[in-house]
Amino acid sequence: MGMKCIGVDIGGTTVKIGLFETTGELLEKWEVKTRQEEGGIHILPDVAASIREKAMELGLDLKTDFTGAGMGVPGPVLPNGYVEVCVNLGWRDVNPQEELSALLDGMPVKSGNDANVAALGEMWQGGGRGYSDLIMITLGTGVGGGVIIDQKIIAGKHGLGGEIGHVHVRDEEWEHCNCGGVGCVEQVGSATGIAREARRRMAAASEPSLMRSFGDDITAKDVLDAAKEGDALALEVMETVGRYLGLALASASMIVDPEVFVIGGGVSKAGQFLIDIIQKHYEYFTPISQNKAKLVLATLGNDAGIYGAARLVL
Ligand SMILES: [Zn+2]
Repeated sequence: MGMKCIGVDIGGTTVKIGLFETTGELLEKWEVKTRQEEGGIHILPDVAASIREKAMELGLDLKTDFTGAGMGVPGPVLPNGYVEVCVNLGWRDVNPQEELSALLDGMPVKSGNDANVAALGEMWQGGGRGYSDLIMITLGTGVGGGVIIDQKIIAGKHGLGGEIGHVHVRDEEWEHCNCGGVGCVEQVGSATGIAREARRRMAAASEPSLMRSFGDDITAKDVLDAAKEGDALALEVMETVGRYLGLALASASMIVDPEVFVIGGGVSKAGQFLIDIIQKHYEYFTPISQNKAKLVLATLGNDAGIYGAARLVL
């Protein structure tokens, strides 16, 4: 029986936990509820109890059968594991990796920001498999990112590494981003951003569009579905979205020159259609060379976090 490792992905409503072979095979995955009350003090004890229970059930010994446990945290994590604040969990001034290690009889525990960790997961067993240098962009409610160079997360000195969602790309923007900035990638490339762009475009134009039947409740998926059917206004929206995402990728390419960009998150369910739109603009902004990062789709979905967390301890 080979050594095992554990991947923990802590989210605001549930904690996902995966048990892996160190070769990368996912053996079991399960979830526990995230108890945010009392400043989130129950979260790690709940996780530890659940891991203990699973280990016992499978006849595994915490001390001898595991290389360790990795953990993705929804906020900035300093290199020593320190978390100043994690608004989604109620955490403030904690070191969750030290705490979880103590709760698991001293098992080695490493942690990282959840978006960075997801990028590592996609490198290990997902769309970026076989590559050592990649950038992942997660197009969800917001836009997350992770930079992996030489198989290592580039978290930065202040935990800001990979925050591609908050790169400024759009000077004409007037509304503020959640980060306080204006014109961030997230404001136009997230699911929320795409829907907002669609509402703006519908209000500014009078032409008929498939998007109009959804009114103000339109979602990014509705926009992408309409664009795929050739709807002119939806295609205009996606051209705007693709332009700014392409610009962000081009800038990233000129700074770290990864082998591949892995595009994930709910919006990426639109598949190759979305990749092609972003790629077109990315090419426009990178005429300097034909030898550069390609764009691929993420393949692990919501499991990227547990894969990447487990990979942290290998
Ligand atoms: Zn921002």
